[in-house]
Amino acid sequence: MKGRSAIPELPEVETVRLELAPWLTGAVIIGAALLDARPGPKYAGLERAVGRRITAVNRRGKFLLLPLDSGDELIIHLGMTGVLSPQPTSHLRVKLELDATPSALYFRDTRRFGRFLVVPAGDYTSLPTLAALGPEPLGPDFYPAQFAKALRVKTAIKTHLLSQRPVAGVGNIYADEALWRARIHPLMPSAHLSAQSVACLCQAIKEVLRESLEAHGTTLSDYRTVNGEAGGFGSFLQVYGRAGEPCLRCGRTIERLVVAGRGTHHCPHCQQLPAQ
Ligand SMILES: [Zn+2]
Repeated sequence: MKGRSAIPELPEVETVRLELAPWLTGAVIIGAALLDARPGPKYAGLERAVGRRITAVNRRGKFLLLPLDSGDELIIHLGMTGVLSPQPTSHLRVKLELDATPSALYFRDTRRFGRFLVVPAGDYTSLPTLAALGPEPLGPDFYPAQFAKALRVKTAIKTHLLSQRPVAGVGNIYADEALWRARIHPLMPSAHLSAQSVACLCQAIKEVLRESLEAHGTTLSDYRTVNGEAGGFGSFLQVYGRAGEPCLRCGRTIERLVVAGRGTHHCPHCQQLPAQ
Protein backbone atom coordinates (compact mmCIF):
# COMPACT_ATOMS: atom_id res chain seq x y z
CA MET A 1 0.00 0.00 0.00
CA LYS A 2 1.27 3.46 -0.88
CA GLY A 3 0.48 5.26 2.37
CA ARG A 4 -3.20 5.42 1.54
CA SER A 5 -5.48 6.44 4.32
CA ALA A 6 -8.76 4.64 4.80
CA ILE A 7 -11.22 3.92 7.53
CA PRO A 8 -11.17 0.71 9.51
CA GLU A 9 -14.09 -1.30 8.18
CA LEU A 10 -15.92 -4.34 9.45
CA PRO A 11 -13.07 -6.88 9.08
CA GLU A 12 -10.65 -4.58 10.90
CA VAL A 13 -13.11 -3.85 13.72
CA GLU A 14 -14.01 -7.53 14.02
CA THR A 15 -10.30 -8.39 14.22
CA VAL A 16 -9.91 -5.87 17.05
CA ARG A 17 -13.03 -7.27 18.76
CA LEU A 18 -11.68 -10.82 18.68
CA GLU A 19 -8.46 -9.61 20.30
CA LEU A 20 -10.24 -7.54 22.96
CA ALA A 21 -12.87 -10.11 23.96
CA PRO A 22 -10.73 -12.53 26.02
CA TRP A 23 -8.98 -9.62 27.74
CA LEU A 24 -11.92 -7.35 28.53
CA THR A 25 -14.85 -9.72 29.06
CA GLY A 26 -15.43 -9.90 32.82
CA ALA A 27 -12.97 -7.09 33.61
CA VAL A 28 -14.01 -4.34 36.02
CA ILE A 29 -13.28 -0.75 34.99
CA ILE A 30 -11.49 0.75 38.01
CA GLY A 31 -10.86 4.16 36.51
CA ALA A 32 -11.69 6.13 33.36
CA ALA A 33 -9.89 9.28 32.31
CA LEU A 34 -10.11 11.59 29.34
CA LEU A 35 -6.60 12.51 28.29
CA ASP A 36 -6.18 15.00 25.44
CA ALA A 37 -9.92 15.16 24.73
CA ARG A 38 -12.90 17.20 25.91
CA PRO A 39 -16.23 15.83 27.11
CA GLY A 40 -18.86 16.20 24.38
CA PRO A 41 -20.79 14.12 21.89
CA LYS A 42 -17.72 12.00 21.08
CA TYR A 43 -16.65 11.42 24.67
CA ALA A 44 -19.50 11.18 27.15
CA GLY A 45 -20.58 9.35 30.29
CA LEU A 46 -17.22 7.72 31.04
CA GLU A 47 -17.67 8.31 34.81
CA ARG A 48 -20.66 5.95 34.65
CA ALA A 49 -18.35 3.12 33.62
CA VAL A 50 -16.21 3.29 36.77
CA GLY A 51 -16.77 0.35 39.10
CA ARG A 52 -18.66 -1.55 36.42
CA ARG A 53 -17.89 -4.92 34.91
CA ILE A 54 -17.67 -5.42 31.14
CA THR A 55 -19.94 -8.37 30.38
CA ALA A 56 -19.14 -8.86 26.66
CA VAL A 57 -17.33 -7.34 23.69
CA ASN A 58 -19.79 -7.13 20.81
CA ARG A 59 -19.80 -5.43 17.41
CA ARG A 60 -22.48 -3.86 15.22
CA GLY A 61 -21.18 -2.69 11.87
CA LYS A 62 -18.04 -0.71 12.69
CA PHE A 63 -19.07 0.01 16.30
CA LEU A 64 -17.68 -1.90 19.27
CA LEU A 65 -20.38 -2.36 21.93
CA LEU A 66 -19.30 -3.32 25.43
CA PRO A 67 -22.30 -3.93 27.71
CA LEU A 68 -21.66 -3.13 31.38
CA ASP A 69 -23.29 -4.82 34.38
CA SER A 70 -25.05 -1.52 35.19
CA GLY A 71 -27.26 -1.72 32.09
CA ASP A 72 -25.15 0.87 30.32
CA GLU A 73 -23.12 0.22 27.20
CA LEU A 74 -19.63 1.46 26.40
CA ILE A 75 -19.50 2.32 22.69
CA ILE A 76 -16.24 2.70 20.83
CA HIS A 77 -15.93 3.80 17.21
CA LEU A 78 -12.40 3.86 15.85
CA GLY A 79 -13.18 6.59 13.30
CA MET A 80 -10.31 6.87 10.82
CA THR A 81 -7.29 6.50 13.06
CA GLY A 82 -8.47 5.02 16.35
CA VAL A 83 -6.29 2.34 17.95
CA LEU A 84 -6.98 0.43 21.19
CA SER A 85 -3.88 -0.75 22.97
CA PRO A 86 -2.55 -1.72 26.40
CA GLN A 87 0.49 0.51 25.82
CA PRO A 88 0.51 4.30 26.17
CA THR A 89 1.63 6.07 22.99
CA SER A 90 1.05 9.52 21.50
CA HIS A 91 -2.31 11.16 20.68
CA LEU A 92 -4.06 9.41 23.57
CA ARG A 93 -7.69 10.36 24.22
CA VAL A 94 -8.91 7.89 26.86
CA LYS A 95 -7.37 5.64 29.49
CA LEU A 96 -9.36 2.90 31.22
CA GLU A 97 -7.84 1.22 34.29
CA LEU A 98 -8.88 -2.40 34.61
CA ASP A 99 -8.68 -5.19 37.17
CA ALA A 100 -7.29 -7.37 34.38
CA THR A 101 -3.95 -8.10 32.77
CA PRO A 102 -2.87 -5.90 31.03
CA SER A 103 -4.32 -3.38 33.47
CA ALA A 104 -4.87 -0.42 31.15
CA LEU A 105 -6.66 0.18 27.88
CA TYR A 106 -5.62 3.25 25.92
CA PHE A 107 -7.53 4.85 23.05
CA ARG A 108 -5.21 6.61 20.65
CA ASP A 109 -6.80 8.71 17.89
CA THR A 110 -4.59 10.98 15.82
CA ARG A 111 -7.29 12.55 13.66
CA ARG A 112 -10.03 12.65 16.31
CA PHE A 113 -12.87 11.11 14.30
CA GLY A 114 -13.32 8.33 16.84
CA ARG A 115 -15.84 8.06 19.65
CA PHE A 116 -15.70 6.63 23.15
CA LEU A 117 -18.86 7.02 25.20
CA VAL A 118 -21.23 5.35 27.64
CA VAL A 119 -24.98 5.30 26.94
CA PRO A 120 -27.94 3.37 28.37
CA ALA A 121 -27.87 0.01 26.51
CA GLY A 122 -29.64 0.29 23.18
CA ASP A 123 -30.22 4.07 23.47
CA TYR A 124 -28.54 5.29 20.29
CA THR A 125 -30.22 8.70 20.01
CA SER A 126 -26.80 10.36 20.06
CA LEU A 127 -25.54 7.86 17.46
CA PRO A 128 -27.92 8.06 14.47
CA THR A 129 -25.64 5.94 12.24
CA LEU A 130 -25.70 3.12 14.77
CA ALA A 131 -29.46 3.48 15.26
CA ALA A 132 -30.11 3.14 11.50
CA LEU A 133 -27.62 0.33 10.78
CA GLY A 134 -28.71 -2.35 8.35
CA PRO A 135 -28.24 -6.07 9.05
CA GLU A 136 -24.85 -7.64 9.71
CA PRO A 137 -23.48 -8.73 6.32
CA LEU A 138 -22.26 -12.09 7.62
CA GLY A 139 -25.38 -12.77 9.68
CA PRO A 140 -28.62 -14.56 8.76
CA ASP A 141 -30.58 -11.33 8.17
CA PHE A 142 -28.60 -10.32 5.08
CA TYR A 143 -29.85 -12.18 2.01
CA PRO A 144 -30.89 -11.15 -1.52
CA ALA A 145 -34.65 -10.71 -1.00
CA GLN A 146 -34.11 -8.55 2.09
CA PHE A 147 -31.25 -6.66 0.39
CA ALA A 148 -33.44 -5.91 -2.65
CA LYS A 149 -36.03 -4.26 -0.38
CA ALA A 150 -33.34 -2.09 1.19
CA LEU A 151 -32.20 -1.00 -2.29
CA ARG A 152 -35.53 0.51 -3.37
CA VAL A 153 -34.09 4.03 -3.48
CA LYS A 154 -32.74 6.17 -6.33
CA THR A 155 -29.45 6.85 -4.53
CA ALA A 156 -26.29 5.65 -6.30
CA ILE A 157 -25.46 2.17 -5.04
CA LYS A 158 -22.03 3.14 -3.70
CA THR A 159 -23.47 6.11 -1.77
CA HIS A 160 -26.25 3.94 -0.42
CA LEU A 161 -23.81 1.25 0.74
CA LEU A 162 -21.68 3.87 2.51
CA SER A 163 -24.77 5.05 4.45
CA GLN A 164 -24.68 1.67 6.28
CA ARG A 165 -28.47 1.45 5.96
CA PRO A 166 -28.86 -1.44 3.49
CA VAL A 167 -26.12 -3.44 5.21
CA ALA A 168 -23.82 -2.66 8.15
CA GLY A 169 -20.07 -2.33 8.06
CA VAL A 170 -19.31 -1.88 4.34
CA GLY A 171 -17.12 1.17 3.89
CA ASN A 172 -15.18 2.67 1.03
CA ILE A 173 -12.70 -0.13 0.36
CA TYR A 174 -15.06 -3.08 0.53
CA ALA A 175 -17.82 -1.25 -1.35
CA ASP A 176 -15.43 -0.78 -4.29
CA GLU A 177 -14.23 -4.38 -4.09
CA ALA A 178 -17.74 -5.85 -3.90
CA LEU A 179 -19.11 -3.67 -6.73
CA TRP A 180 -16.20 -4.69 -8.96
CA ARG A 181 -16.77 -8.38 -8.22
CA ALA A 182 -20.50 -8.01 -8.95
CA ARG A 183 -19.77 -5.92 -12.11
CA ILE A 184 -21.91 -3.03 -10.92
CA HIS A 185 -21.07 0.62 -11.67
CA PRO A 186 -20.77 2.60 -8.41
CA LEU A 187 -23.14 5.30 -9.73
CA MET A 188 -25.90 2.85 -10.67
CA PRO A 189 -29.17 3.92 -9.01
CA SER A 190 -29.82 1.28 -6.34
CA ALA A 191 -33.42 0.66 -7.40
CA HIS A 192 -32.33 -0.08 -11.01
CA LEU A 193 -30.32 -3.17 -10.08
CA SER A 194 -31.74 -6.42 -11.44
CA ALA A 195 -32.59 -9.22 -9.03
CA GLN A 196 -29.56 -11.06 -10.40
CA SER A 197 -27.26 -8.09 -9.72
CA VAL A 198 -28.62 -7.74 -6.19
CA ALA A 199 -27.91 -11.42 -5.53
CA CYS A 200 -24.40 -11.06 -7.01
CA LEU A 201 -23.68 -8.01 -4.87
CA CYS A 202 -25.00 -9.70 -1.73
CA GLN A 203 -22.69 -12.64 -2.39
CA ALA A 204 -19.73 -10.38 -3.29
CA ILE A 205 -20.08 -8.39 -0.04
CA LYS A 206 -20.05 -11.60 2.00
CA GLU A 207 -17.05 -12.99 0.10
CA VAL A 208 -14.95 -9.83 0.29
CA LEU A 209 -15.58 -9.44 4.02
CA ARG A 210 -14.91 -13.11 4.77
CA GLU A 211 -11.65 -13.10 2.82
CA SER A 212 -10.51 -9.92 4.54
CA LEU A 213 -11.45 -11.29 7.97
CA GLU A 214 -9.30 -14.33 7.30
CA ALA A 215 -6.41 -11.96 6.50
CA HIS A 216 -7.12 -9.88 9.66
CA GLY A 217 -8.15 -6.78 7.75
CA THR A 218 -6.59 -4.53 5.19
CA THR A 219 -3.26 -2.85 5.79
CA LEU A 220 -4.03 0.82 6.19
CA SER A 221 -1.86 3.75 7.10
CA ASP A 222 -3.08 3.88 10.71
CA TYR A 223 -5.03 0.71 11.36
CA ARG A 224 -3.33 -1.70 13.70
CA THR A 225 -4.60 -4.74 15.51
CA VAL A 226 -4.45 -4.59 19.33
CA ASN A 227 -1.13 -6.39 19.10
CA GLY A 228 0.21 -3.55 16.98
CA GLU A 229 0.24 -5.54 13.76
CA ALA A 230 -0.87 -4.30 10.37
CA GLY A 231 -3.59 -6.25 8.57
CA GLY A 232 -2.78 -8.59 5.72
CA PHE A 233 -5.54 -7.97 3.15
CA GLY A 234 -3.87 -5.09 1.27
CA SER A 235 -2.25 -7.36 -1.28
CA PHE A 236 -5.61 -8.97 -2.06
CA LEU A 237 -7.33 -5.74 -3.10
CA GLN A 238 -8.47 -6.14 -6.70
CA VAL A 239 -9.72 -2.66 -7.57
CA TYR A 240 -9.43 -0.31 -4.59
CA GLY A 241 -6.43 2.00 -4.93
CA ARG A 242 -5.52 0.59 -8.36
CA ALA A 243 -6.47 3.58 -10.58
CA GLY A 244 -4.32 3.55 -13.72
CA GLU A 245 -3.52 -0.14 -13.34
CA PRO A 246 -5.08 -2.89 -15.50
CA CYS A 247 -8.34 -4.52 -14.46
CA LEU A 248 -7.50 -8.02 -13.21
CA ARG A 249 -10.48 -9.39 -15.17
CA CYS A 250 -10.37 -7.63 -18.55
CA GLY A 251 -7.12 -5.65 -18.67
CA ARG A 252 -8.72 -2.22 -19.23
CA THR A 253 -7.44 0.63 -17.10
CA ILE A 254 -9.07 1.05 -13.67
CA GLU A 255 -10.50 4.55 -13.26
CA ARG A 256 -11.02 6.69 -10.20
CA LEU A 257 -13.98 8.95 -9.63
CA VAL A 258 -15.43 10.62 -6.56
CA VAL A 259 -18.72 9.32 -5.19
CA ALA A 260 -20.19 10.74 -1.98
CA GLY A 261 -16.90 12.56 -1.48
CA ARG A 262 -14.92 9.32 -1.46
CA GLY A 263 -12.32 8.08 -3.94
CA THR A 264 -14.03 5.33 -5.92
CA HIS A 265 -12.33 2.79 -8.16
CA HIS A 266 -14.00 0.89 -10.97
CA CYS A 267 -13.40 -0.76 -14.33
CA PRO A 268 -15.15 1.20 -17.12
CA HIS A 269 -15.54 -2.01 -19.12
CA CYS A 270 -16.69 -4.52 -16.48
CA GLN A 271 -18.84 -2.02 -14.59
CA GLN A 272 -20.98 -0.05 -17.03
CA LEU A 273 -23.96 2.21 -16.56
CA PRO A 274 -26.84 1.30 -18.87
CA ALA A 275 -27.14 3.56 -21.93
CA GLN A 276 -29.49 6.46 -21.26
ZN1 LIG B 1 -12.56 -4.96 -16.24
